[in-house]
Amino acid sequence: MRAETRDSLKSLLDAAGPSGYETAAATVWRQTVGGFADRIWGDVQGNSFAEIGAEGNPTVMLAGHVDEIGLMVHHVDDEGFIWVQGIGGWDPQVLIGQRVELLTDEGQVTGVVGRRAIHLIRREDGEKAVKLKELWIDIGALSGDEAREKVGIGDVAVIRSETLDLANDRLAARSIDNRVGAAVVAEALRLAREAGCSAHVIAVATVQEEIGYVAGGGARTGAYGLDPQVGIAVDVTHATDHPTLDRKEHGDIRIGGGPVLARGPAINPVVYRRLHDAAKREGIEVQVQALPAMTGTDADAVRMSRAGVATGLVSIPNRYMHTPNQIVSLEDVEQSARIIAGFLAQLEADADFLPL
Ligand SMILES: [Zn+2]
Repeated sequence: MRAETRDSLKSLLDAAGPSGYETAAATVWRQTVGGFADRIWGDVQGNSFAEIGAEGNPTVMLAGHVDEIGLMVHHVDDEGFIWVQGIGGWDPQVLIGQRVELLTDEGQVTGVVGRRAIHLIRREDGEKAVKLKELWIDIGALSGDEAREKVGIGDVAVIRSETLDLANDRLAARSIDNRVGAAVVAEALRLAREAGCSAHVIAVATVQEEIGYVAGGGARTGAYGLDPQVGIAVDVTHATDHPTLDRKEHGDIRIGGGPVLARGPAINPVVYRRLHDAAKREGIEVQVQALPAMTGTDADAVRMSRAGVATGLVSIPNRYMHTPNQIVSLEDVEQSARIIAGFLAQLEADADFLPL
């Protein structure tokens, strides 16, 4: 991976951006695409768009969601402790012992997640999984009034952390889901421009995927506005190459094993085949994942837009999703961008995506 791409990926990973509060991350993304897109714009949802080949055909939307899971302040008590709800799917166990950054109108406020000391936990309680409502944020305030001055209802928080380099070009970060996808769609756009492509391509850093579920967050309105013929969503998927997972149940997906191409009823078979062919041409090994229903990603929102969009899904294997230390291989990230750029380079103006 180019040093420049790696650096901008790291800045993207370290920017805070829970669903609905993505502006810091979206700003980094727009700076990244600023170097090679013809035009960059945003919409009222917070989506960011970067375009090349406006006169070309067909129109292709590349969607990588830029939001991450976060915490939202919903109560500050009279002792100055802050109570939160989850934005997106949290395992509350991973919050124990963490430091957090609260994003307020006045800037960042730091805090820690409070939890009873082991000596003060009853034995029977110690065996139970902790619930989010049993954890609080302590910012060091002496009173409710002081805490309320610093932090407001509706402010959000993320785990305070920095991207960590691991062996074998692996990275650990809080926001791997799905900043790596947002980075891949940007990099695919850059590579497509470099290689030359006759399609009209818009890379989109979509918002609010983590709360969008089936309806789709920003991808839904983004796709409606762009009206593409083809969509490719890029997200993370669970790597199953760590202890305690049964591959008979969860499939066999490995970090460093290459990008993952999804197959299933929600995936356009022609897009799938063309992505597969592009990987072969590039000499990139892929992993195939069976998704027998909806994909649970932006691909669903793009596919269901208007009268339907031929949509594929490229996923990056990710260990420990929705924990503060998610791990991906940089090689998988880079290869994902190369496959998509290869797909775009071969796309004819009249390419047919009808299944029969
Ligand atoms: Zn997620």
